[in-house]
Amino acid sequence: MPTVLDVVQHLEQIAPPVYQEGYDNAGLIVGDRGAEVRGILTCLDSTEPVVAEAIRKGCNLIVAHHPIVFKGLKSLTGRNYVERTILEAIRNDIAIYAIHTNLDNVLSRGVNERIGQQLGIANRRILAPKKVLLKVITTVPYTHVAEVHSAMVEAGAQHVSVIEQMSLDNGAPPSGQEENLHGRLVRLEAMVTHGVQGPVIQALGKYHPFEEVPYHTVSLESTYAEIGSGMLGELPEPMAEEAFLDIVKERMQAGCIRHTALRQKKVERVAWCGGAGRFLLPAAKAAGADVFVTSDYKYHEFFDADSQIVIADIGHFESEQYTIQLLQEILSEKFSIFATYSTEVRTNPVFYR
Ligand SMILES: [Zn+2]
Repeated sequence: MPTVLDVVQHLEQIAPPVYQEGYDNAGLIVGDRGAEVRGILTCLDSTEPVVAEAIRKGCNLIVAHHPIVFKGLKSLTGRNYVERTILEAIRNDIAIYAIHTNLDNVLSRGVNERIGQQLGIANRRILAPKKVLLKVITTVPYTHVAEVHSAMVEAGAQHVSVIEQMSLDNGAPPSGQEENLHGRLVRLEAMVTHGVQGPVIQALGKYHPFEEVPYHTVSLESTYAEIGSGMLGELPEPMAEEAFLDIVKERMQAGCIRHTALRQKKVERVAWCGGAGRFLLPAAKAAGADVFVTSDYKYHEFFDADSQIVIADIGHFESEQYTIQLLQEILSEKFSIFATYSTEVRTNPVFYR
């Protein structure tokens, strides 16, 4: 039977934990990595009713979008819903795993791709690509290039390339001599995104044949287009603002949309971010988006639209609800030996009337 760890590894191939934001707490929150999985329940929020549903459905792993624990707990006594949920999960041998901003930040099969599909937006791309932190540069004997190259890629390095070749004694190797061929050094350069440099350098230490591994790192200001926050894309046909907001309301099953003044301009380019996306407003404006679809806007923050864009707040749960099915699909296509269910509990704490 697959273990919790097997499931975690599959999820983390799609959304590596190193791509989560600094404030986040994605990962295994409750449970034993080695436990055999009997069934999985996917949800946005792993609340007490969701734990009860997992028990009813025979699931011993809950895969949630939001981490139930964000801050450190100094005691665990059941005095609030967070502590009660955790205690109930532990009592019933249920593991809880959260796949949060790392799933927000991937281009493919992430939270925002699903929203873009739901809204029928084409040409989808990351709105604010993450900064590529550094370049890791090493020199490797010609004979070990393939091995070191694949170890770096496995550890999460992007675009490992062979840059130049040089000889051990810094002179040109006489051609045709086997020993000199082995003496040749090849320079490898790898782009490494934020957080991955540790594993990449560890992999170098493990697979590089020299005891003292020669490497150095260079900080970069450039970005990596496949990882980052929010998304941007275009409607197949420009449409009136009212018509677009009606489509958003219907397809995102929004109880209501709180939006800023319409600009009497057709909507063509759209930016969006599941969950609280206010931090992306400058990026959405800079990208020339006509509408920014997100959630969790407060009164004064709406003024920031400043006649340059229409902010449309559709509700936090509404913006991310399709993540529940997304996770169910990602898991059930890999693990058919047990059932993976989408929660039937409505965990949205907000109601409209
Ligand atoms: Zn969220």
